[in-house]
Amino acid sequence: MIDIFGLELAELEKVFVELGLKKFRAKQVFQWLYQKSVFSFEEMRNLSKSDIELLEKNCTVLPREIKVLREQNSADGMTSKLLLAMPDGNSVETVLMHHDYGYSVCVSSQVGCDMHCAFCASGLKGAIRNLTKAEIVAQVYLFNERLRSANALVSRVVVMGSGEPMLNFDNVLGALDFLHDESTCHMSYRNMTISTCGIIPGIKRLEEQDKPINLAISLHAVRNELRTALMPVNKGFNFVDVIAAAEAYSVASGRQITYEYILLKDKNDSLQDAELLANFLRYKHATVNLIPANPVPEQGFERPGKKTIERFVQALQKLRINATVRKEMGKDIDAACGQLRAKFAKEQGAKHEGN
Ligand code: SAH
Repeated sequence: MIDIFGLELAELEKVFVELGLKKFRAKQVFQWLYQKSVFSFEEMRNLSKSDIELLEKNCTVLPREIKVLREQNSADGMTSKLLLAMPDGNSVETVLMHHDYGYSVCVSSQVGCDMHCAFCASGLKGAIRNLTKAEIVAQVYLFNERLRSANALVSRVVVMGSGEPMLNFDNVLGALDFLHDESTCHMSYRNMTISTCGIIPGIKRLEEQDKPINLAISLHAVRNELRTALMPVNKGFNFVDVIAAAEAYSVASGRQITYEYILLKDKNDSLQDAELLANFLRYKHATVNLIPANPVPEQGFERPGKKTIERFVQALQKLRINATVRKEMGKDIDAACGQLRAKFAKEQGAKHEGN
């Protein structure tokens, strides 16, 4: 069986010719898959019965092979999170968010993560493997399929789920290029964001791509010792150098950089922290996205009170730094990285022990 999902049109044509199908059929199937989000050959109405049989016998289509292990919808109906099992049994999370400007999907780039940020649930067990280009594209298309009845499409992608996208650069960029193509969903690069903990060679490679993809940096601390304690990656790629690389990217791409800063109670939420952060970002084409921490029970991090959060934002704004507090979406559905997967694994483990 060949999985045809995520193949470029020329590759699909080659597969079709080898199977003895007419070359032009590849284009028809390509359009069903990526313009109509139809993944079952039987529903592809312009194919003959014999073609459908041949395809069913020889080809699979990844979104049909992915199992939805869990689905959680937030009470307000605006966020929906899926725990997906890939054909090899590994699972990742994907989140759909409904904003007033459209639908955006937060995709994972790796199974697990090796960055071991102290507050994050994704890396509890390290990285297991990179996701393929097709697996990244499929996360978006599973939602496109669900949105068919609403006659809507995903219009934004953020690579901010589990994993470090810069350590799976080719597949992540391959997936974004695929989604950008006018023969698929023709998504603008301006509607795509890659979020990194600060892998500088990845930021440089992204700059070489010369595409207006947005870059987000998970900064979270601006005191060296604290950042190293929270994010071990700071030892290899110091945050001061990361900010410089991001600034160079901003100048080259014309895009504003988003700095993510999780507010962790009594760790990085003081006025002094706000002032230091403002110093680092002054005069830069940047915005700060403050994220009240989603507590990860395993690691004992708490979220600051409302007043502390307000004080932090106001201090930044007073120093003329663009700052917003991330709109809380999906807090009630474990939408922070890796939380659903970790919970699911724990439950399965408990079940197993109980047996
Ligand atoms: N590795 C990439 C992308 C995945 S993490 C990166 O570091 O940017 C995506 C975002 O979720 C990051 O900003 C990360 O720091 C944040 N995050 C992780 N755990 C969180 C938690 N418990 N609460 C809030 N945000 C969290």
